[in-house]
Amino acid sequence: MNKANLILKNATVLTMDKQFHIFSPGAVAINNDSIVDVGKETDIIAKHETDQIIDCEGKILMPGLINAHTHVPMTLLRGLADDLRLDVWLMGYMMPVEREFVSPEFVRLGTRLACAESIRSGITTFVDMYYFESDVAEATAEAGLRAICGQTVLKFSTPDATYYEESLEYAENFIKKWKDHPLIVPSIAPHAAYTCTDEILQACTELAIRYDIPLHIHISETAGEVEDIRKEFGMPVVPYLKKRDIFDAKVIAAHCVHIDEGEMRTLRRAGAGVAHNPSSNLKLASGFANTTRMLDLGLNVGIGTDGPSSNNDLDMIEEIRLASMIAKAVSGDPTALPARQTLAMATSMGAKAIHMDHLVGSIVPGKRADLILIDIGKVHNSPNFRRSPDSIYSQVIYAAKSTDISDVMVNGKWLMRNYTLLTLNEKVLMEEAQVYADKIDAFLIEREQSVISKLIAIGGAMEEESFEVQAKVRISNPDLIIESLYQDKIEVIYNRHYHEYDTYFYFEDENQGRLRYREDEFIDAKGEVTNVRSRLTLIGVTREGSFDRDVMLSRSRYYAPATHSLRFYREYFEPSRELDIEKDRKRYQVIYQGVDFYVNIDTLIEPNLGHFLEVKSRTWSREDAMKKSKLIADLIEYLGASSEKAEIQDYPEIVENFLNLNR
Ligand SMILES: [Zn+2]
Repeated sequence: MNKANLILKNATVLTMDKQFHIFSPGAVAINNDSIVDVGKETDIIAKHETDQIIDCEGKILMPGLINAHTHVPMTLLRGLADDLRLDVWLMGYMMPVEREFVSPEFVRLGTRLACAESIRSGITTFVDMYYFESDVAEATAEAGLRAICGQTVLKFSTPDATYYEESLEYAENFIKKWKDHPLIVPSIAPHAAYTCTDEILQACTELAIRYDIPLHIHISETAGEVEDIRKEFGMPVVPYLKKRDIFDAKVIAAHCVHIDEGEMRTLRRAGAGVAHNPSSNLKLASGFANTTRMLDLGLNVGIGTDGPSSNNDLDMIEEIRLASMIAKAVSGDPTALPARQTLAMATSMGAKAIHMDHLVGSIVPGKRADLILIDIGKVHNSPNFRRSPDSIYSQVIYAAKSTDISDVMVNGKWLMRNYTLLTLNEKVLMEEAQVYADKIDAFLIEREQSVISKLIAIGGAMEEESFEVQAKVRISNPDLIIESLYQDKIEVIYNRHYHEYDTYFYFEDENQGRLRYREDEFIDAKGEVTNVRSRLTLIGVTREGSFDRDVMLSRSRYYAPATHSLRFYREYFEPSRELDIEKDRKRYQVIYQGVDFYVNIDTLIEPNLGHFLEVKSRTWSREDAMKKSKLIADLIEYLGASSEKAEIQDYPEIVENFLNLNR
């Protein structure tokens, strides 16, 4: 007789082993943290002496589910911002809120909330990527779950590090601290090719190899990411990463939505695992990962929920079902990803994909006792057919719900018994989570009230207030004005030629001013575009004043290079309307009477409104403005344009009036 602490009997045991053995009625013998035997109930009971036998009442007993990619603390950001494009969602909402709120306390609470939800969903192992990962690890271990915890490294500053060197240092200490823990596998997570530098990728790879830990990274999640890498480096993401040697490490590659067959082969040869995230890819419209082809080529593909703010839950049963159904719909082949194979992706194959199949993923003697019980005796799952051995797998993935999971064990320890969580108090966690949600709501409400604070929230932004005195006159012959710029009393310091595309955003609340997105094309002497630059300017709507001879004083409140696309700003700021203006600009910096001025000779192309002379100068006081306004009027006269029609409107106003007249 062998000794076991516990025997689970009277179950339909899905072992998910190589031969997909099913035992019904079957039993599993457990000693301490490990499975010691599995088989027919009568055999197991006959072979083992035990302290305790639990009757599973005909439920399904199977390996716990593996969530191959997630960001667990983001439970606290669930539902914060939805129905947005990935960049607006990430750069406009997630990252600014994370910079403000993510702390060790935030991460612990979010992790505990995620652990409660994960246990209820039958997850016994998850693969995480976030900040303050040591706190994620601690909260996870306390809840009794198993996890690969990946410390994120990014080229931007993060909630836990100003510079990436700090992230790496944090990561190394974290790895050393958790290396031999029974439940936690520390890991390093360079976020993605487009958010890391060569240096970061190399340092992370080196760390992963030195400590023999998995390297967790997002790969080719969106078509845009692949396009950008291809444009800059002339190759798609997987070869780009291969050149930087990251596949020398044990890689867990999240998403892989836009990879070709060659890239799939590279991943397989490198022994990398893929984490497929169907809900997240659907919700963010990232596309459809070709899992059928990956599996045909022999890649190990696991299934992940991704973070609970792009999903928005940690329901693995739903994820498994979607993985199967999407593969069928996309390939037009209902035999694609059958139930048994898809369930393997969340168990035995998932374990291989995350480099943990020596410990988890199937009910095999010697592996850890990470087990779940599913009650399929409910109305939505009856009756039962047993003619085909595969029908039990269909029941689990097509009919069962995560709410049918009644019991969960990790490392030989019960975390849920008969639907009751044993290591976490959900009521308290939900109350604490609500306190955070209220705080984050208040923060965003305040931010959304002002275009300026929204600008500052997306980073790289400085508020800078400057005043401008300017005058504008319509001219009929620009060449004459240009000629007269080269007279005795004027010194031309430099001149440039641009083609300018301006888009003005208007807001419901007019006091917010107008936000201008400007793309400047630099034109050389041959008339060719040599360079393009984009800038954002927030222009105060109120005219500060005007002086004699129609010289205006205005101010711009904010000025910065535009690092995102026009489309990004449009979706982020949600202007109530827009106005486009295209013009040709010859710009001269001149000194007149000892004072610096800009002289612009503009031709409005779209709409076609003719030529304008604009004279401007920056100023910081009203007194200075007064002095300069007089000089501006003189300069216009000196240039021979004083008899032309003065405009007391800026270009958007001129264009608006024109459009209104022609409507
Ligand atoms: Zn992710």
